[in-house]
Amino acid sequence: MSYVRDFTDGGMDLKDLLGGKGANLAEMTRMGLPVPPGFTVTTEACRTYLKLGEAPDGLFAEICRHLGDVERAMGRRLGDPDDPLLLSVRSGGKFSMPGMMETILDIGLNDATVEGLAAVSGDDRFAWDCYRRLISMYGSTVAHIPHDLFEQAHAAESDPRRLVAAYKRIFADQTGQEFPQDPQAQLEGAVLAVFRSWNTERARVYRRAEHIPDDLGTAVNIMAMVYGNRGPASGTGVAFTRDPATGARGVYGDYLQNAQGEDVVAGIRDTLPLSRLAELDRRCFDELTAALAALEARYRDLCDVEFTIEEGRLWLLQTRVGKRTAAAAFVIAAQLVDEGVITLDEALLRVDGARLAQLMFPRFDLADAPPPLATGVPASPGAACGRVVFDSRRATETRGPVILVRRETNPDDLPGMLAATGILTSHGGKTSHAAVVARGMGRTCVCGAPIEVDEERREFRAGDVVVAEGDLISVDGATGHVYPGELPVTPSPVVRYFDGAVSADSGPLVSAVARLVGRADAVRRLGVYANADTPEDAARARRFGAAGIGLCRTEHMFLGERRRLVERLIIAQDETEIRAALDALLPLQRADFTRILAAMDGLPVTIRLIDPPLHEFLPSYEDLLGAADDHSRELLTAVRRLRETNPMLGLRGVRLGLLVPGLFAMQVRAIAEAAAERTAAGGRPRPEIMVPLVGDVRELAAVKAEAVQVMEGIFPGIPIGTMIEVPRAALTAGRIASEAEFFSFGTNDLTQMTWGFSRDDVEGSIFPAYLRMGILEESPFETLDQPGIGRLITIAVDEGRRARPDLRIGVCGEHGGDPASIRFFHEAGLDYVSCSPFRVPVACLEAARAALLSPE
Ligand code: PEP
Ligand code: MG
Repeated sequence: MSYVRDFTDGGMDLKDLLGGKGANLAEMTRMGLPVPPGFTVTTEACRTYLKLGEAPDGLFAEICRHLGDVERAMGRRLGDPDDPLLLSVRSGGKFSMPGMMETILDIGLNDATVEGLAAVSGDDRFAWDCYRRLISMYGSTVAHIPHDLFEQAHAAESDPRRLVAAYKRIFADQTGQEFPQDPQAQLEGAVLAVFRSWNTERARVYRRAEHIPDDLGTAVNIMAMVYGNRGPASGTGVAFTRDPATGARGVYGDYLQNAQGEDVVAGIRDTLPLSRLAELDRRCFDELTAALAALEARYRDLCDVEFTIEEGRLWLLQTRVGKRTAAAAFVIAAQLVDEGVITLDEALLRVDGARLAQLMFPRFDLADAPPPLATGVPASPGAACGRVVFDSRRATETRGPVILVRRETNPDDLPGMLAATGILTSHGGKTSHAAVVARGMGRTCVCGAPIEVDEERREFRAGDVVVAEGDLISVDGATGHVYPGELPVTPSPVVRYFDGAVSADSGPLVSAVARLVGRADAVRRLGVYANADTPEDAARARRFGAAGIGLCRTEHMFLGERRRLVERLIIAQDETEIRAALDALLPLQRADFTRILAAMDGLPVTIRLIDPPLHEFLPSYEDLLGAADDHSRELLTAVRRLRETNPMLGLRGVRLGLLVPGLFAMQVRAIAEAAAERTAAGGRPRPEIMVPLVGDVRELAAVKAEAVQVMEGIFPGIPIGTMIEVPRAALTAGRIASEAEFFSFGTNDLTQMTWGFSRDDVEGSIFPAYLRMGILEESPFETLDQPGIGRLITIAVDEGRRARPDLRIGVCGEHGGDPASIRFFHEAGLDYVSCSPFRVPVACLEAARAALLSPE
């Protein structure tokens, strides 16, 4: 087996074997660009080394052979005391892991060759400075000597010769051995140190965060050294083919005269804009810009390069398809279409939903921001500033923007959440009530922050700082940071575009987004619906491109004033009292549905019958215990009767419909009457009824029989379907499909019940440890767990469609708007995803990408 490839013998399609850096160096070499001669030790060699704990047989003999080619090309030999070849040894995995692994420069210097380098360069100081750099890099990476020992010596001594002596003493003291003088031994030590750096703690942490597999290994790139610190005609820099921040066309970058690459990265000296190079060295500048143009043409994308000029000669040390901001990604993709470089469909693959989501939230301007007070779970993005309030009533009564601060939220807080610009809690994670509702409403939310909320004293404590009601704070839902005071924010032009406030030609970013989302609509197969409970949300969802409502949760319609009516229903003693309570609710529900059907006129509106346990609408047991009035005592009796140890597994969903006589029938009647009213007014209502928490077909059949009877004579034929959110429903989907006209996967509950993870608790308690331990790679409440929940979905889709070929199937759990889960829903053959209105364009884009990546 061969473990080494010359740069002349590779290319950009060999990233698995040569790593990104190696493959691109080979590509540049093939293109005839000025790359110093060199070769790549493959990732296969690294994997073998990590498995065996020793270098694979024959590796160093092979390296030696390739080294011979480099020596011939450079006209210098490694270890030659008169004119030594020096080498750089750099890591480079398949995916970029900037700064996470090792680099060792100036391999080949020793007490003899340093004199030769000094003589040929005519620069004693330069040669000894290179030797010093080698000892410290080699010492810290190969021999694990703490870097600050070298730094302390450096601070105390400026003469490079004396510094080399001091460094050698440190090396000997720390390792018990002299610094190796044999260049071959230096090279071997450096290669193995780079292999080992794949498995350092920081590299592992980075891979986990970036979802890079642990078993790929790194390649090692060995290349002839060139020097940017050989005087004023030398230098080093970084260049981009377009501006990576905005996407603007042109050549961008930084240049540092008479310096080595690490000086640019370390930010030791101020760099010059690349345009200045044109004045300093026109020939190199022209050669560089020509190389950048050639690279863009070859990679058909923005590229960046690291380059060095050694005494008037340009060398390219690295290139890659450059990282860019979310805004630049959209702008560049659209530009490349205009330039005829890529097609619109290729442009769709150059952007993604996660980046679009980033562009849709307002952002803080952090230029003068103070340090954060606390950092919690970034649960719903956005930048919100406002006065702190501790309850829903104050949130609605306070003028101006408020941040609702709670230990956790419950459905009763909804008015306050609606009134607030931001929500901050000390408990709960990304799928806690606060998080789900906030995302649905486009409110900024940070959950589970390390703060102590004292609702009695109306203050919260973050470390030593006490924040009182009425104080201003700023909450960053993208990072989870909470700042004191009011930070300036900038609104998202992309949201203004979808809202119709600005036109598609109001700037390069908006125009790029409009174009790509427009194309996405033509390409995607999946329908995109919205989860919306109010006419305002429905209208916004429609403006954002939703083809209907996939989940209208009705429980939010029983809060505020109407809670009294729900209380009446719960404490009712007999059929007559129940009927009276339901009769009072009916007209209110009818009005709710009429308005939502009007906002979505002509499009389907999937209304889910009431789902949460009824006692959630009552004051808490603890609050009622102390109360003395008759009404509270009555409520306390009801709460005692209804209290459950596991409410999420108790009397909720379809079970309520079957056990509380007339409750579902009232809702069905309200839906049918609202639809009839809309039709009479000339509208085209398309309501659908969805039953929550079904686990057995007989539950659905019973609810359906009653519903069909109720709608008869008012607005017959409303389609009736079910959520699939209990594992048993997924496993018996064939039977359930005999009664259901559609399925909608409730992946929040399906995840909760399949894993046995409480969706309100585990994100703060268990998940952080599980993520750290590598048991989970991401929260299954955020990104669909394909092996587990995905398998249940596949079973249910297959069996459901077998029983009823025209069964419509969608998903309305949080995963429906998760960019990383949408491709699975496409591949599983779902008809639609339903997500919060703000996620609709994101889902459209991801659905199109899924169609392009997995054509049927
Ligand atoms: C679900 O469980 O996925 C769902 C959509 O319902 P809810 O979040 O209201 O329980
Ligand atoms: Mg549910």
